[in-house]
Amino acid sequence: MNSSLPTDSRAERIAVVGLGLIGGSFAAALKQNGYAGHISALVRTEAAATKAIASGYVDHASTDVRSVIAEANFVLLAVPMLAMRAQLELVKPFLKPNCVVTDAGSVKGPFVEDARSVLQDMANVVPGHPIAGREKSGIDAVDFTLYQGKRVLLTPLDETSPAAIEQVTRLWQQCGALVESLAVDHHDRVLASTSHLPHALAFALVDTLTSGQQHEEIFRYAAGGFGDFTRIASGDAVMWRDIFLTNKTAVCDALDAFNAHLLELREAIDSEDGEKLETVFRRAKQSRDEHFDTTKKS
Ligand code: NAD
Repeated sequence: MNSSLPTDSRAERIAVVGLGLIGGSFAAALKQNGYAGHISALVRTEAAATKAIASGYVDHASTDVRSVIAEANFVLLAVPMLAMRAQLELVKPFLKPNCVVTDAGSVKGPFVEDARSVLQDMANVVPGHPIAGREKSGIDAVDFTLYQGKRVLLTPLDETSPAAIEQVTRLWQQCGALVESLAVDHHDRVLASTSHLPHALAFALVDTLTSGQQHEEIFRYAAGGFGDFTRIASGDAVMWRDIFLTNKTAVCDALDAFNAHLLELREAIDSEDGEKLETVFRRAKQSRDEHFDTTKKS
């Protein structure tokens, strides 16, 4: 099935559902990079609509679903994972035939399930996930450079139309992103280890230390390493709650593997096994140095 997006972007009409950090930065990046189409946003309050229009990166913003969706040929859902299904149900009655539907959710399996159960026909649904973000959220955090040089992972299905994939790819590229594709399950497993596990550790570490009695001292004497390691614990609580709940199995597997490793490390410290500690630290340092530029902060 062909998607309905016109090839001339001046005739495109994009609707962004959820104009926070991710959805707002998508609109802002497109406009900043000279995108000529029309962008509208579905927001939850009149105040958010006024703010969005004043920002200049959307042409229309409203709490009225029909006015945002009915003319759109491309819809990006950028709401927390557990809000996706309700938003799909909300927009469905107003979707034009062949409108391309994509998302920016951090877990792909549940979005695919929600979209299949609400929309049924998946030909024009292209699940996606920008590997870009930060600890600030909401419309005030919008940044048109957010996707510059960053990866966006698409997880198209066998039935996804190549034209729909091409259009989602083109728009992300216009935001400055590098687009790659991978399988849904693979995405959720990889992200459980590379993103969700480190966030769980940062949340747990800060929470453990701040529930102790020397709470104030810990922050007073914290060195840069503590700040670097725990920066990601400032992420939005609702967004992260939803990510852990929707990627439960893969995150629990990653946590189990990490717990086993941590116990081994504890054992080596307790038994004063310096050789083992050195081996682990050298191996970790070598892997990290190989993959990151150690001359600049990552
Ligand atoms: P955000 O909090 O900045 O924005 C979320 C938007 O969704 C806001 O406009 C908010 O009004 C709206 N919203 C929140 N709850 C809603 C609900 N129940 N119903 C309808 N609308 C609701 O969040 P964000 O960082 O832009 O994240 C959006 C999506 O992108 C999430 O699915 C998240 O997993 C994913 N994501 C986030 C990051 C990141 O680093 N922040 C990175 C990649 C992907």
